Amino acid sequence: MIRISSLASSVLPSATLAAGAKARQMKASGIKVFDFSLGEPDFPTPPHICAAAEKAIAAGHTHYTPVNGIPELKSAICRWYKKYHGFDCTPDMVIVSNGAKHSIHNTLAASLNPGDEVIIPAPYWVSYSDLVQMTGAKAVVVPTTAASGFKMSPAQLKSAITPKTRMLMINSPSNPTGSVYSREELIAIADVMLGTNATILSDEIYEQLTYGDAKPTCIATLRPELRERTITISGASKSYAMTGWRMGWTVAPKPLIDAMGNIQSQETSCPSSVSQYALLAALDGPQECVAEMRKEFLARRDLVCEKLRRIPGITFPTPEGAFYAFFDISAYFGKTIGGVAIKDSLEFCKACLETAHVNLVTGSAFGAEGYARMSYANSREELEGGIAALAAWLGKA
Ligand code: PMP
Ligand code: GLU
Repeated sequence: MIRISSLASSVLPSATLAAGAKARQMKASGIKVFDFSLGEPDFPTPPHICAAAEKAIAAGHTHYTPVNGIPELKSAICRWYKKYHGFDCTPDMVIVSNGAKHSIHNTLAASLNPGDEVIIPAPYWVSYSDLVQMTGAKAVVVPTTAASGFKMSPAQLKSAITPKTRMLMINSPSNPTGSVYSREELIAIADVMLGTNATILSDEIYEQLTYGDAKPTCIATLRPELRERTITISGASKSYAMTGWRMGWTVAPKPLIDAMGNIQSQETSCPSSVSQYALLAALDGPQECVAEMRKEFLARRDLVCEKLRRIPGITFPTPEGAFYAFFDISAYFGKTIGGVAIKDSLEFCKACLETAHVNLVTGSAFGAEGYARMSYANSREELEGGIAALAAWLGKA
């Protein structure tokens, strides 16, 4: 029998991707599924970005590039941070990778040793704990509650810190909760980190998707003393509807970027050449496409909040960013819905998909049992139809 390593045996498939695959299978067999599982914009990639990629192919940019990315893209990323966050970074502080997930993996691989502790506030994005575990480090999960808007307090952070703490992973706007920390809240978190020698990994991939008064904050700009210990990760998937192009980046102090470059050179040589030219056009080109998508996401957010909250027992704080609603389903635990006994989020989401044909992701995948996540990166018609199907199914409880 073929041997599987202990590392691979310990890794589970990404719960979000697995949920997406299950719905795809059902759809292929002719079943109408309301698929709210994947966090993937349903919009096409804006035409000027696609045109830049076609131009890059025609110009012969179809070979290996420098390991950390083409110089003009790294400069564009620096210009972008200067323009939107007043963050002065230089191209030698930037590495472009094949998606922000890849950026996170490389960052963790270049930063952590076995036995190190990484503080992760929960609910957290599904891959964080698994990627940390793959390095041999330990995820120290800090649970937060809906009452605090799913935000970790400075006191909670303080009490999770030990001599082994190497890193805090923070994600605002958040997947799965949509919560956005204010600048003041992040300054208070940064100040706790000042008292340690651990690094901050700030995943800001949803920064262009905030609603109402919520504003994104680039943590690297908050405290000059923390600049040398802050890692900023972002990517094109969410803001520019570019999930399949696989473009993510890391901005960090040069020694870490160099170490990540060594790993990336052994692992994948460079990020995709054509996608880099597409990302360059996305960052340097007109930004109206982002504003239009944000406007539509906001309308969907309002629709989802209004409709979901009409369902008895379903509660959640209003998401202020990203494109997810993370709602409490625990009122249905211990009940029977359409003949199926529900005791946890796994059974809830399984029965919901199989019976109501509505695909959600379990709260447990995000380190928060008792909840389910709905991605509203889907059309208003689908959202209305799906929430009606969910309400009808729950009406049988
Ligand atoms: N971070 C968060 C919080 C995410 O939701 C995602 C979604 N895929 C990623 C990182 C990775 O994105 P990608 O690899 O598509 O750039
Ligand atoms: N980040 C998205 C999600 O949470 C895409 C899937 C993934 O990369 O896990 O659904």
